[in-house]
Amino acid sequence: MDFQPLVETFGKMEQTSSRLALTDHLVILLKQTPADLIDKVTYLIQGKLYPDYEGIEMGLAERMALRAIASSSGKSMSEVEAIYRKTGDIGDTAGKAMVSKGQSTLFSEQMTVERVYCTFDKIAKTTGPGSQETKLRLVASLLNDSTAEEGRYIMKFVMGALRLGIADYTVLDALAVAFTGDKANRKVLENAYNVSSDLGTVAKLLATKGLAAVKAVQITLFKPIRPMLAERVSTAEEAMERMDSRAAVEYKLDGERVQIHKGRDRIELFSRRLEKITDHYPDVSKAAMSLACKEAIMEGEVVAINLQTGEYLPFQQLMHRRRKHGIEEAMENYPVVINLFDILYLDGKSRTELPYEDRRKLLEKTVKGAKADGMMLKIVPQVIATEPGEIDRFMASAIESGCEGVMVKMPSSTYRAGAREYLWVKLKREYRTELADTLDLVIVGALHGRGRRVGKYGALLLAAYDPKEDIFRSVTKVGTGFTDVHLEQFYRELEKHVIHQKHARVDTGMDMEVWFEPAMVIEVIASEITLSPSHTAAMGAIKDGYGLALRFPKFTGKIRDDKEPEAATTTDEIVTMYRHQLKIHSEAAKSKEEE
Ligand code: ATP
Repeated sequence: MDFQPLVETFGKMEQTSSRLALTDHLVILLKQTPADLIDKVTYLIQGKLYPDYEGIEMGLAERMALRAIASSSGKSMSEVEAIYRKTGDIGDTAGKAMVSKGQSTLFSEQMTVERVYCTFDKIAKTTGPGSQETKLRLVASLLNDSTAEEGRYIMKFVMGALRLGIADYTVLDALAVAFTGDKANRKVLENAYNVSSDLGTVAKLLATKGLAAVKAVQITLFKPIRPMLAERVSTAEEAMERMDSRAAVEYKLDGERVQIHKGRDRIELFSRRLEKITDHYPDVSKAAMSLACKEAIMEGEVVAINLQTGEYLPFQQLMHRRRKHGIEEAMENYPVVINLFDILYLDGKSRTELPYEDRRKLLEKTVKGAKADGMMLKIVPQVIATEPGEIDRFMASAIESGCEGVMVKMPSSTYRAGAREYLWVKLKREYRTELADTLDLVIVGALHGRGRRVGKYGALLLAAYDPKEDIFRSVTKVGTGFTDVHLEQFYRELEKHVIHQKHARVDTGMDMEVWFEPAMVIEVIASEITLSPSHTAAMGAIKDGYGLALRFPKFTGKIRDDKEPEAATTTDEIVTMYRHQLKIHSEAAKSKEEE
């Protein structure tokens, strides 16, 4: 297949900010793609070569990229650098530098999707000494034979800056339309995606074997499953109402969610965002390897612990484990334990269809026989409650042990991969601020810093996620709670996500100086939620023409890099929080009147 149709589609996608138009462009592209290339094209349009959990990166240094552009465009390095200083984007630099390059058709090899993918793959897989030079040669080999427009996208891809704003859900919609003619079939595709986390494979299965084959997709060892999530509730009564007469109440530990995949002689750990984090926790891997089974997929919360007192430590301590070198030392200094809470697969069979109660029994049996230290490998404490008072009592003991609150789960529920429903609810302790909970919001824009903050960002525009429309809607501007180290870090990390206009999936009435693609999620607290004419979160849900906004927001210091943007607090959750706040206020007013 020629690379050109892909480039044309990329160009059209860059021009549009409507999700429907994005889907239409994708449908046309997918329909003209040969079935055996569908997986590769699906990855390429999302700026990837493999599913995210493989953690494959191109790893070409910026300087090398500029050298490749210089060598293929016939321009000097200083000319290329001058263009780069102006554009600030390596792809655009390639596009501009290569415009004047004559097309050397005589010896040039044809630019096909197969060739481009295969070369990208080689670039990603070249490692070790001298690898930068090899990568440079490979990139240059593509640029030599490409047009300026092709070169522009090739470099954007190689530098991880192909930002077309296509979410997984848009691809699922497009696949459903392209291959079944009916968007409603997206549900089937989504289920397969939820248990495999691999859009390319789902797409290829659909294109080559049809919808029935996609329906039959099962959990597979070493392919992460999208996690089941919880809705929030504000009281034990509300939690109990959501259950049918009995509730499994568990400690909600404040650590990192880990999905353990154990094979006979291999183990992998995946984060909540399904990235491989096996290297962060060799101690957890070792303990899990000793479980009494051949193969298993389990979920648990890794928590930092003070070994002297047995006390759980805050989530931030786990940051010390995120490193490539010196992990032995980090294990010594920052010990952790794993608290398992679910089992999804055991010895060749998916267990997700079992009721939660039965999965828990299976989990207990499997952990009982483990040889690991009982301190290291635990099962989350649980009680079965039949009335709210029991939930409250267990909550008090959870908080005393350093937990955030409790999780309340429906004992009869199956494991619903990727779903956030009331089958699991979370009840957190009241914070000292007026709002009962923190919010995890996506950074979508910024204002330049002034005074002490010159050269950094002064305030960040934050958005909540609206899953119905797959859009991020602004809810507040935050400028407090940042240390100098944070300011520096935000500036550095957000630089990778700067775009020249408001992102297609962002909705706001605010005018910002800098825009970002939705990528980074941070935790904030606030004093209350108010109606707002300029923020668009939950627009019209409470009052026509008004969205909801946070009053006195403050960054808590937690960067939620374990969450992808679509896992941010939703606009519906903010509506619930707003209604809850009204209820508290009116109850307080009533009791004052009664006095
Ligand atoms: P939060 O922001 O409240 O941590 P979240 O959005 O990360 O929540 P939720 O599904 O809302 O995810 O809350 C569940 C999270 O709580 C899980 O992802 C997991 O990391 C953690 N957790 C701690 N203890 C448990 C438990 N016993 N069962 C399930 N999840 C637990």
